[in-house]
Amino acid sequence: MTQDRDSGRSVRAELAEHLRALRELGVTEIRRPGRPPAAAGGTAARPAPVAPGAPLAAAPLPRARTAASSSPAARPDTDASGEGLSVLGTAAPAGDPAALLEELRRDEIGDCVRCKLSGGRKTIVFGSGNPEARLMFVGEGPGADEDVQGLPFVGRAGQLLTKMIESMSVAGRRLSRDEVYIANIIKCRPPGNRDPEPEEIAACEGFLFAQIAIIQPRVVVALGAFAARTLLRSKAPISALRGRFHEYRGTRLMPTFHPAYILRNYTEETRRTVYEDLKKAAAELEAAG
Ligand code: URA
Repeated sequence: MTQDRDSGRSVRAELAEHLRALRELGVTEIRRPGRPPAAAGGTAARPAPVAPGAPLAAAPLPRARTAASSSPAARPDTDASGEGLSVLGTAAPAGDPAALLEELRRDEIGDCVRCKLSGGRKTIVFGSGNPEARLMFVGEGPGADEDVQGLPFVGRAGQLLTKMIESMSVAGRRLSRDEVYIANIIKCRPPGNRDPEPEEIAACEGFLFAQIAIIQPRVVVALGAFAARTLLRSKAPISALRGRFHEYRGTRLMPTFHPAYILRNYTEETRRTVYEDLKKAAAELEAAG
């Protein structure tokens, strides 16, 4: 009895926390969905693999280069063929996604020194979350907090991203951060949080493409101009890209504003706009069942 009352209280507390997060995102109305629950995590059917022949990465990935193997003589530059890249050689790698991601992280990225960012990083921020997520978020690159902890979106922007995720409802169920997957375009922190340079993106983006191919999310939310433009190979402003789905390697890509941008422009309008974009992403997950 006491236990029931306690669990009732904790449900109420959780609900109150959700409502508070929603209010912070500018949400003033909640609709009751009419469809049966469908998890955003790995319990529902996985989407069809990327079409055969679709390139895994726009630029084939280099073999893992560790500090020890990166001298010019020891650098065969297998980049052109991607030969020997077990995880990366197919559009939709077969196998356990968790194991494939770990293989990608350990064997392909390794102690990467493919670009100069390796010199200033503390950790490689690979990505985190559910390896079979149906929803994936892609940011730009790690900041100071992420660099220290080795995890994406753990600073202020990350706290807002968590609230954004928790504001999403799929078939009547709120999402949680641990059921989605979060990664960045680049895996190492640029000094002073400057924008990544084209060579740094070129050296790193294939790993993100491989993560997407392994996870096969139904929906990818690109956070900010940088992620959206890199994934879509577009020069359009985020304001022109956001708010509608783009087809992306067998997934539906929804660009929206970056949480750091929302924090800098913390207006009702910005929050409402992002909430509308996320609602479309949630509706797509719900429709996919
Ligand atoms: N901003 C990003 O784009 N990614 C992170 O991981 C953190 C902040």
